[in-house]
Amino acid sequence: MRYPCEICGKLTIGFHYGVNCCNACKQFFIRAVTSDKIPNTCSSKNGNCQKCRFCRYQLCLQAGLVAPCVKNFSPDLSKVLDHFKYLEFHRNDKFLNFIPLGTFNLDDSVLAENGNYTEKPENFQPNFDTWVAVCFSTSVDFIKRCEVFEELSKCEKMSLVKQSYRMHGTFCLAMRSFVNRQEIAQFPGGLDIVPEEIQNRYQNCPEILNRIKCPLVAKLRELKITNEEYLLLSALMICNTAPSIFSEFGQNHIGHYQKLFSSLLLQYCLQNYSKNGPSRFSDLLTIFYTVNGILQDFDNAIIPFLYTQSKTETQRMLENVMEQKLD
Ligand SMILES: [Zn+2]
Ligand SMILES: [Zn+2]
Repeated sequence: MRYPCEICGKLTIGFHYGVNCCNACKQFFIRAVTSDKIPNTCSSKNGNCQKCRFCRYQLCLQAGLVAPCVKNFSPDLSKVLDHFKYLEFHRNDKFLNFIPLGTFNLDDSVLAENGNYTEKPENFQPNFDTWVAVCFSTSVDFIKRCEVFEELSKCEKMSLVKQSYRMHGTFCLAMRSFVNRQEIAQFPGGLDIVPEEIQNRYQNCPEILNRIKCPLVAKLRELKITNEEYLLLSALMICNTAPSIFSEFGQNHIGHYQKLFSSLLLQYCLQNYSKNGPSRFSDLLTIFYTVNGILQDFDNAIIPFLYTQSKTETQRMLENVMEQKLD
């Protein structure tokens, strides 16, 4: 699924500064606003020729491209939602119909141009390790397709993904379970989100594992979260980082998107809940605490069983996930 670039018409998956446009047109626009060398008339004298820089720049402005440094930049809510619907459709398709090649490795996923997947063979039943890998890989890919990921340095891109991919993957799984009217978070086919070897350790105290599987789905059900709210919260989640590790440019860049998505979410709430909009908005934000709490409880439950002498594949993968969290 590609959209025509609103400036040159070429089919693209790009979405920049609130407009569906290709990378070449985005780059052209940035050069145009950061230099003053745009001619002030059309070189072919008939207007809208797309060939000269004057006309291409006019088309950029008509399409609504606004430089990110302009303070009141506010792309249209419905356009942003359309874009995230598209990204989410793509993520979900990969999640259900493909399997990653090899085990999950965060650094490889972030650096790879395209995620390494293969189509899921018919009748293939993914196990716990495969579901974790496909869940996290598709979340990493989702984050990489978000506009906020662009323009950061390589190392800041890595930090952005590290801080958000587990939250994002956890949120997606819970949303999926909520939409399918399940009481607890599960992988497709009802597979448990806690590996069997850990389940066995907690046979006598199931409440510890229930704290991981239940609260987020219960929260989404209680709020009756809409798909639009889910999409805007996912976008916000990715920008909701600890700013201290980013450069000044990185902080401003991410902060810009953070403000953008929270104001779009508030706008959505005001449109749909009128005078209850502000309280709806703050209720939705409490989802972040729930997600963080679950990740914390998950880590607390598995850490005691991670550092054994001989490790299973599952332990190795979970250890890898934990270590990325620690640095
Ligand atoms: Zn274009
Ligand atoms: Zn022209």
